[in-house]
Formats: sequence, C-alpha cells, structure tokens
Amino acid sequence: MTAAQTRLSFSQNVARMVDKAMPHLDVEIPPGLAEQIKACDKVFQTQFPVQMDDGSYRTFTGWRAVHNEHRLPTKGGIRYAIHVNQDEVVALAALMTYKCAIVDVPYGGSKGGLIIDPKEHSEAEMERVTRRFARELIEAGYISPAANVPAPDMGTGGREMGWIADQYRILRPNDIDHFGCVTGKPVSSGGIRGRVEATGRGVQFVIREFFRHPEDVKLSGLAGELEGQRVVIQGLGNVGYHAAKFLSEEDGAKITCIIEWDGALVDDAGLNVEDVRQHINEQGGVKGYSKAKYIEDGHSCLELDCDILIPAALESQITSDNAANIKAKLIVEAANGPVTFEADQILVEAGKVVLPDAFVNAGGVTVSYFEWIKNITHIRFGRMTRRHEEFRGQRMVEALEMLTGQTLPDEYRKDLTNGVGELDLVRSGLDDTMRNAYQEISRVYHSNDSVNDFRTAAFISALQKIARTSMEMGF
Ligand code: GLU
Repeated sequence: MTAAQTRLSFSQNVARMVDKAMPHLDVEIPPGLAEQIKACDKVFQTQFPVQMDDGSYRTFTGWRAVHNEHRLPTKGGIRYAIHVNQDEVVALAALMTYKCAIVDVPYGGSKGGLIIDPKEHSEAEMERVTRRFARELIEAGYISPAANVPAPDMGTGGREMGWIADQYRILRPNDIDHFGCVTGKPVSSGGIRGRVEATGRGVQFVIREFFRHPEDVKLSGLAGELEGQRVVIQGLGNVGYHAAKFLSEEDGAKITCIIEWDGALVDDAGLNVEDVRQHINEQGGVKGYSKAKYIEDGHSCLELDCDILIPAALESQITSDNAANIKAKLIVEAANGPVTFEADQILVEAGKVVLPDAFVNAGGVTVSYFEWIKNITHIRFGRMTRRHEEFRGQRMVEALEMLTGQTLPDEYRKDLTNGVGELDLVRSGLDDTMRNAYQEISRVYHSNDSVNDFRTAAFISALQKIARTSMEMGF
C-alpha cells in the first residue's frame, strides 16, 4: 500500500482526534454514545442547473451536512471552492459541533459546501447560483432560524449571506424570525457589528490569553510577552488578515512572513500587513510586492525559524511530510484542520504547543451567536441602555467633582460618560468567551497527567458537555 493510500481523510483525522480524547471524559457514558457523537447525523446533496450570463446552463453540486443535533439550531458556514467534497463538509460539520461546545455556544454542528470558483463568475451569476442553492437547502429543511443557520466560510461573505436571507424571506414570508436564518449578513441587513473581524479578533484574544498563562508559555519554550514575538502567518484572507493586523498593530508582534497561494513575503523586521493586503487586493497575490523578500515556494516557509506559526488558510498544510521541520514553538490553528492527526503527534512529541482549530477559530461562530440573538430578539444590543448609562456616568462625574472640588481629567470623563454600543459589547462578549474557554482547556490539560496536548484537552472539554446534554435529553 502506498503512503497516499494509507493517508487518513479529513473526517477520519477528526474522528481520530476525538478517539484520543474519549477515554479521558470525567463522565461515564453508555455504550454506543461515543459512536453516536462521532457519527454525522445526515448529509444532503443537491445538483442543480443555473443559467449563465451567455445563456448556457451549468450544473452545480453542493452539500449540507448536519453532524450533531444535541442542540438546535445547528450551525456552520457555507464554503464555495473548487475542491470541496462531501468528506470535507462532513469533517467541517463535526468540527462545528466540537467548536460550539468548547466555547459554550448552544448549537449543534453543520457545514455546507458548493463546488464553484467564485473568481470565474460575474456578480449576477453568483447571485443566481446562491439563491438557487439556498432554495434547495430551505426546501429540504437545511436552512431555518430554528433548525439550521449557515454563515460565511471560505469563498463566501456578507454578500452571499444577504442573498440567502432574502431568499428565505421570499419562501417563508410568515416567519417573523427570518433574519435569524443565516448569520454574517451585512450590518444594514440584519448583521452585527464586529462579525467580519470576529474570527481574527478571536485568534488575537486566544494568543493574548496564552501569554497570560506563564506555565503554558514555559511549556512551549517561549519566553516573555506577546510584544516582539516573530509570527509566520499562512493566508491573508479574512481570518489571517485580521489576526495579523491586530497582533502587529495592537500587540506589537512582528509578522516576519506572510504565505499566500502564489508565494511568500519575508521581512525579519516585520511586514506591514495593511500594505501587503492592499497589494494582494490589487494584484491578486503577493508576487511583485517590492518592499520584502519574495520566496516562490511559499509552502516551504511554514518551516521558517519563528516563534508563532499561524496557519490561516487550508486544511492539511502540516502533515507527516513537513511536521518534523517546523521550527515555531507555538502553532495556532486559525484555519480548520491545518494539521493532520499524524503531524499533530510529531509536533507534540517535539515539545510544541498546538492550540487547536476547534477552539482558536471559534470567534466567528461566537459572534454569529450574538447576531442570531439580535435577530430573534429584534433589537440591537445596547439600544435600551446606552443613553441611560451615559446619564448615570455623567451624574457620577458631577458627584465626584462636587465632592473633591476638582475637575475630572478628560480621559476619565470620556470613559465614564460613554454609553456602551454594539461593537463594544460584541468585543467584550467575544473576549470573555475566548478567555473562559482557554482557561477551561488549560485546566483540563494541567489536571490530567495522561493528557499531553491542548487539542485533546479541548476535545475532552467539548465531549463532556455534548455527552451530558445527550444523556439528559436522550439521544
Ligand atoms: N465558517 C465559520 C466557522 O468555520 C463560521 C461559522 C458560523 O458562524 O456559523 O467557524
């Protein structure tokens, strides 16, 4: 048998990671429950024709997998890519179940995928394809505010989510919660402030929390603060761009390498993320960027000497082929499934700390949860309280000034008299969520002698919650 034949598929990789955690649960589970948790509940496949701008027809193939319905609705993005396949969608749906459990977002896991290259199509074609795919999913019961709520993923964004929301409203005009049928919508069409940056922001909050845990920093072999750490990032899409931007601009980390599909840029002094992003937007890739060294074999740059490696692009980037060459001490999985099961073992044995995808990139679904709550409550966060808080703050300032006979410095006055708005609340809720989850994972890791990696600790935390709910509610 060749190496390629023995390679695990994406969904088998995820299942192996779950198997590794299962024996460590602090709750006794009945025979058969472990299998039920791992199994994908259902997969819907559809093939449908759409007319192209030139009058011809093209047939598209798409899927929506529902992995686990221990909580409803189920949640997860819709991916548009040429390489999407059923196994990938099933694996990603499973990761959604574990992801939601890790960050205490009360959803089951789902995922969708459509074989399409968005770059090949006009906006009008994309709209027709998206509306038709949405119609198939709505009619089959795979989109609704109560049962299954999609969101953006690779190749999709606010534009597609807006079309899906509108399509649902057309087909279900009597559903008062229609906006809650999909998240990641434009803010002016039922979306929430802070959703676009949410996954990258969550990655930043995770790394900040890691550096607040000196025992974990020591474990990785790193030292000191986040400021000045050398970061290699793969993928400057929505997640990678925001993570790299916030880490460099707000925390003083140095982005020493950015890897993209057409090569990599390297600068030991630190790259200007905004500048590189602009170049990519204009040129379609990093090639031709003149202010840093360009390396054509971008993939090899995963092995560069650095402190933190953030794979924020595709799955299966670190495999048994290159894992032993990785120099970073901390690997932060911003993408879904960037490290294979076998590669993970190699990294952990080499003493690296790997913060797992199902936790690290959960910021997106966390803010999706906030958006869905906003949609089904039909009110923007902070709308009832903002002015009231401002009034209370103003009175506090007056009282302080009256009692002390002094004028409060402007910076304090501003903080006290500013009512909190939607974006502040979203960021605060996201920070709290990521920090709590980190603390729980770290606690499980340190309190269990036979667990030697953070991924297993994260899966233990998730599986315990899912098993308890399944036993309480029946499965
Ligand atoms: N596609 C994102 C993920 O993989 C977001 C899912 C969501 O917001 O439902 O986590």
